[in-house]
Amino acid sequence: MSLVSGPGRGGAQDPSPELCIEKHVEYIKGLDKRRDELEYWLTEHLRLNGVYWGLTALHLMGHPEALPRDETIDFVLSCQQDNGGFGASPGHDAHMLYTVSAVQILVTIDAVDELDKRGRGGKHKVGTFIAGLQDRETGTFKGDEWGETDTRFLYGALNALSLLDLLSLVNVPKAVDYVVSCANLDGGYGVRPGAETHAGQIFTCVGALSIAGRLDLVDKERLCGWLSERQLKNGGLNGRPEKLEDVCYSWWVMSSLAMLGRLHWIDGDKLVSFILRCQDPEFGGFSDRPGNMVDVFHTLFGLTGLSLLKYPGLKEVDPV
Ligand SMILES: [Zn+2]
Repeated sequence: MSLVSGPGRGGAQDPSPELCIEKHVEYIKGLDKRRDELEYWLTEHLRLNGVYWGLTALHLMGHPEALPRDETIDFVLSCQQDNGGFGASPGHDAHMLYTVSAVQILVTIDAVDELDKRGRGGKHKVGTFIAGLQDRETGTFKGDEWGETDTRFLYGALNALSLLDLLSLVNVPKAVDYVVSCANLDGGYGVRPGAETHAGQIFTCVGALSIAGRLDLVDKERLCGWLSERQLKNGGLNGRPEKLEDVCYSWWVMSSLAMLGRLHWIDGDKLVSFILRCQDPEFGGFSDRPGNMVDVFHTLFGLTGLSLLKYPGLKEVDPV
C-alpha cells in the first residue's frame, strides 16, 4: 500500500455535494500499483499502517474485497519478528504501533488464526510482546524496547489486547491510573502528565478508559465543552486552539464525543460539508483541507468522520 500523496487535490475540481464512493475505492486500489514512484520507497517505514488505513476505508465503504485477502495476510505475516511483534515492513524492528495495526488488520479480515498456522507464534506471543512494553511502575507503555512512553502506545496496547481477548496479560488498573494522571484542568489529556491537551491524545486516553470500562473517570462536561470548541466557522475541526482545521480531527474529536455520548455538541451538517469539500471527486481520496494533495490517512479519517455522522452508504464505525 503506497502512502504517496496525490494524484488529486481535495476540492480542486468542482466540490461535489455527494460522497464519491466508487472514486475512493478506485483510489485505494490504485495505491498498491504505484511502486515505481520514489515516494513509495520513502514511506516504507509506515507501510503496515497504510494497509490498515486503506483496508479500514474499504470496509467502511462496503468493498472489503477490493484488497485481496490472501496477499494482505501474507504481507502482514511477513512483517512479524521473532519476538512476536511487528515492524512497519519486512525486516523492520518490531514496534507497538505496527503491532497494533497488524492485529487490527487480522481481526478485520478474520485471520487471527493465521498467526498460529503461519506466523512466528500465535496470538499469545503477540500479546506477550505488547505486555512486555508496559512499565510496571507507572502503568504506561513504551513503543519499543528503547523508546519513550506515550499515551498513544497505552491506548494501542489496550486496543490490540482487547481485540485478542488478552487484556489479562497487563495491569489494566495501573494503566487507568496513568491515564488519569495525564488529565489537565481543561478536562483534556496530554501525551504524559503535565503535557498540553491535544485532541489526538484525548482520543487515545478516552479510548483507553472506554476499553477499561472506566469512562466514569472523565470530566465529561468540561472535556466535551473543550472538544466542541474545536469547530471553526468553515465547519472543520482543529486539534488545539489557534490551529488550522484538518479532516483527521473529524475522527479524533468526533470519536471522543461519540464515546462520551455528546456527538450532538458539534454541528454535524457543517462538518459533513467541510469533509466533502476535502474529497477529490475526479481521482478519489481526501486531503487534510480543501486545496491540498489527497492521501490515504486523511481518506480514512474523512470517511470515519462521515460514518460517525451517519452519512448514508457508509458502514457504522466503532468509535473505540
Ligand atoms: Zn491531519
